[in-house]
Amino acid sequence: MKKQNLLLLTAAIWLFSCKQSSDQPISEQYDPSCQACIVEQYVPKLIKGTMDSYFNGDPVTLVKADDKLLLEGDIIIDPSQLTNAAVSGERTGITSALKKWPNKTVYFSFDSSSTDESTRTKFKSAVKHWMDNTDLVFINKDTLDDPESISNYINVIQDDGCYSSIGMVKGAQDLSIGSGCSTGNAIHEIGHAVGLYHEQSRRDRDKYIIIYTANIDSGKAGNFNKYASGNGFELDTLDFGSIMMYPYNAFSKNGKPTITKKDGTTYTTQRRALSQGDLDAVEHMYP
Ligand SMILES: [Zn+2]
Repeated sequence: MKKQNLLLLTAAIWLFSCKQSSDQPISEQYDPSCQACIVEQYVPKLIKGTMDSYFNGDPVTLVKADDKLLLEGDIIIDPSQLTNAAVSGERTGITSALKKWPNKTVYFSFDSSSTDESTRTKFKSAVKHWMDNTDLVFINKDTLDDPESISNYINVIQDDGCYSSIGMVKGAQDLSIGSGCSTGNAIHEIGHAVGLYHEQSRRDRDKYIIIYTANIDSGKAGNFNKYASGNGFELDTLDFGSIMMYPYNAFSKNGKPTITKKDGTTYTTQRRALSQGDLDAVEHMYP
């Protein structure tokens, strides 16, 4: 981990990853390129409007879609994670709305009524990738002698699109692997579930990228939020190779870039594997 550039603002968890994509471990068993990658998002039936609130001390505009509150396209916020005002003063892990999984252990369960074998296979492959490359342990709670003893867990469903909560939420938290979602998308969604945000959302992103608002699809501008205040920390530089990074044409309404590097050029994204920067961020979050 590059500690010399570490900016530690609080003990709360606001993580972005570091290092450049050249460091990323490439696992060929996952999607070979992002030519066919889809950008993770919940596909709502009805957009009901927006709601201004505070999440983790940051002012946020959430999209009310069906029965969900969306922070960016594929991050579901539970109302219990919201506060009415910015949290002032030094924050701690206790006051943070973003919770880590205790003992580096993430429990999950497959929703028996909605998941088919394909979804389960993708999720299990994604879990294997996480367990092969991090210290986190993922346990299917239904394999335990007393599954009811586990109250906080990821409830894997097969809904419209790929989406997840961020961090650990009390109770069962849905993580959707829709029929169009890949194993790489599942690795990305697990990233949200353990507490990772989108790489392009980092507060210092304007040092590295340009956002082209005029090219963003109607109603999707919120997917390009930047967190100008708040808490947590960012590691090193923006990692274009992060599995949490949007592609340059994410949510474009006209095929033109919605994101470029500062020099105006586009870049390559991937949904194969956690990058070295992703791994460093996870290690920092779960030391
Ligand atoms: Zn995402």
